[in-house]
Amino acid sequence: MKRVLTCALLLCLALLCQAKGKKAVFIIIDGVPADMVERLDLPVLREIAAQGAYARIFVGGTRGDYDETPTISAVGYTDLLTATWVNKHNVWGNHDLHPNYNYWTIFRIAREQKKSFTTGLFSSWTDNRTVLVGEGKPETGNLRLDYVRDGYDLDREAFPRKPDDLHIFDIDEHVSREAASCIRTDAPDLSWVYLWYTDDAGHHYGNGDVFDHAVEMADKQIGRVWEAVKYRRDHFGEDWMVVVTTDQGRTDNGLYHGAQSDRERTTWVVTNRKVNERLLGGGGAIVDIAPSICRFMGFEIPRDRRWEQDGTPFIGKVDILDLTTEPAGDKQVTLHWKSVRNQARVRVWASLSNHFKEGGKDVWVPVGIVRAGAESFTVDLSRLPESSFCKFVLEAPHNHIGRWYLPAQ
Ligand SMILES: [Zn+2]
Repeated sequence: MKRVLTCALLLCLALLCQAKGKKAVFIIIDGVPADMVERLDLPVLREIAAQGAYARIFVGGTRGDYDETPTISAVGYTDLLTATWVNKHNVWGNHDLHPNYNYWTIFRIAREQKKSFTTGLFSSWTDNRTVLVGEGKPETGNLRLDYVRDGYDLDREAFPRKPDDLHIFDIDEHVSREAASCIRTDAPDLSWVYLWYTDDAGHHYGNGDVFDHAVEMADKQIGRVWEAVKYRRDHFGEDWMVVVTTDQGRTDNGLYHGAQSDRERTTWVVTNRKVNERLLGGGGAIVDIAPSICRFMGFEIPRDRRWEQDGTPFIGKVDILDLTTEPAGDKQVTLHWKSVRNQARVRVWASLSNHFKEGGKDVWVPVGIVRAGAESFTVDLSRLPESSFCKFVLEAPHNHIGRWYLPAQ
């Protein structure tokens, strides 16, 4: 009898532990500008945002600077996956892709945790798994995903080609149903749902009713996933973070993307979690999404790897935002940032090498300590060895911000 009771107690404890599990799913709908999301009636996005937030964010890196990034699909997904811009992740377009896997995707980060986390990928474009995430490649440590539903874009029999790429819409329908079903039954700890057709509708028709309708249908597809999340929350007591976003905006006529116009760079994010000053202040970016999910999931990321992430978590506390550099006289550079918590103690670090890019290690040198409220700090480069490359990180108690400095030759 005693043994039965002990077993029952252990079972209860196990269920309790499981019940507190944190889970995250991020959804990309392709190529939907922020003004469309704001203009259309999208009940699912509205419901998710009502629990957390809707905010405009940006893609494209820093216009005209070393991290300027094409507003192209696979580029944007990789921005999200790695929390870095193209100068690091090296995915410049949709074809002939050579990701730099030294900048780990969020799936690799999940897989390298001491605790095991299950992962899922539900996608209308198979390259997301085979190339961008790099499943099974030696360079990704032979990363494996636990639940995969993709390959439909390569299956011409099940999804025969249709005029205006309408077969892609069929695939999105299937993928969203498969994602919802897997989340209901298996609930991977970390999932990515990718839906493609909205981008095709934009390319074929530009602004107008067809494109509007495609976005409304995408909202319904997101709704399937959202219902599955609510089901898990209500029946299993799991704590879920849902993030919905897009990979780029579009030109004013809605037909194209790739360049650096305001509308191509202006995207959006919807989440069911309460957000911090990063999103509330309007400065958020697509590279913030992975750091936010990592923070929610409690993923531990070694310092040097975390410091390479260009994004800032938009949940939890932050101290400092938006690092910029400005040459200041001979061999000096002034760092500027925005303070959120003025009293926060900020350590300034510099590295003159970039071995991380090749999988190596950089030496980080402390160059100063300052209060966040100062919002600027001047570094005397003449005290450091001569170099045409310098990367800075400001380390505060709740977050870091980083920036490269490339002095003119
Ligand atoms: Zn796209």
